[in-house]
Amino acid sequence: MPYNVDDRQQPIRDQIKEFAEKEIVPVYEELDRRPEEFSREHYKKLAKAGYVSFAMPKEYGGGGYSNIEYITMMEELSYWDPGTGLMAAIPQLATYPLYAFGNEEQKKKYLPKCASGEIIPSFVLTEREAGSDASNQSTTAVLEGDHYVLNGEKIFIMHGDVCDLGVVYAKMSDNAGRTRISAFLVETDTPGWSARTLQHKMGMRAATTGLITLENVKTPKENMLGEQGRGFIIALNTLDGARIGVAAQGVGISQRALDESIKYAKKRIAFGAPIAKLQAIQWMIAEMATKTEAARLMAYKAATLQDNGQKYTVEAAQAKMYATEVARFCVDRAMQIHSGYGYIGEFSIIEKLYRDQRVTEIYEGTNEIQRFVIANNLLR
Ligand SMILES: Cc1cc2nc3c(=O)[nH]c(=O)nc-3n(C[C@H](O)[C@H](O)[C@H](O)COP(=O)(O)OP(=O)(O)OC[C@H]3O[C@@H](n4cnc5c(N)ncnc54)[C@H](O)[C@@H]3O)c2cc1C
Repeated sequence: MPYNVDDRQQPIRDQIKEFAEKEIVPVYEELDRRPEEFSREHYKKLAKAGYVSFAMPKEYGGGGYSNIEYITMMEELSYWDPGTGLMAAIPQLATYPLYAFGNEEQKKKYLPKCASGEIIPSFVLTEREAGSDASNQSTTAVLEGDHYVLNGEKIFIMHGDVCDLGVVYAKMSDNAGRTRISAFLVETDTPGWSARTLQHKMGMRAATTGLITLENVKTPKENMLGEQGRGFIIALNTLDGARIGVAAQGVGISQRALDESIKYAKKRIAFGAPIAKLQAIQWMIAEMATKTEAARLMAYKAATLQDNGQKYTVEAAQAKMYATEVARFCVDRAMQIHSGYGYIGEFSIIEKLYRDQRVTEIYEGTNEIQRFVIANNLLR
């Protein structure tokens, strides 16, 4: 049983196990194997259970859970199916800027609908020339009368192909002639918004990924999120917290790879005995277990700092970097332990975990960017 630092964690693990056995285990293979297609039905089930708005304040329809509870939920969902975990993480990523920086009117208008699953939100930052270098935005916003008019293209946006609300980042000139990034709430049924589903994603296939084109998309003046020119700060602040959630995805993937490996090693016979009797296999299991626990503790530390209102940028980057690289180690060792029965997906979940893990080292800041964040803070 995973180690908890807080009494509130185990009931969450138990609740998710129950949910997973009923709602994830029967469908996760189908969600992974079929062509890219978003399952509203699966999303609605997550919303009904409260998992798309777990940390959102209760007054807006969310669960009001702490960050330590949120990452416990994320670890457990990712244990059962990393793609489903990601499906629940995206609305959290997209609504955080709204509940942390939005005004009361904006929060009341959009958050309860996001919490109930009635509308699907996306976090719309990345562009072809603005990935790691996210400040290099080409998308523009211009104030015309009562509206901002947005033009540009966004890539790799989770649920961007199906979302109803985009938290969109765009550059804008202010009265002093400075060009800075601002954040906007954009309803996607607005003329000029078009999107398509990106094809052939390697893993995390329950959650879809979109390419969005904005052609003279109008959003009302009152839909600017936070102050003009503060959009990049909002994005960075959001990503700081979200990285702890990605660390939890890594921990969930690692734990699953470990548990499957232990089960398999005890039953697979080679040379007349279970492979679990071989020191070569035992060492792999020992290293997987140790690294997984270290990653979990790092995620707990970052979430606890966040819950206590302390600075957590470095710890979040460390947890994300370490936990996702441990997850790579664990899925790789699990593949080795399962060998042919790991590589061929019809025999075990290892082939899927191997594919699902990879993007955790890429999104919400690549692990090179995490190293940059850590070193930059330490060398100040
Ligand atoms: C499945 C998926 C889902 C995503 N979801 C979203 C989403 O919902 N919303 C959103 O806005 N974005 C999303 N992204 C975008 C994601 O955050 C970016 O892909 C990521 O930040 C990297 O940008 P890039 O792919 O353009 O790589 P690049 O920035 O082109 O990087 C290429 C390589 O150069 C390295 N590199 C770049 N700069 C530096 C540096 N300064 N120091 C060291 N190394 C460096 C990188 O680490 C990487 O190895 C998603 C991406 C994927 C694949």
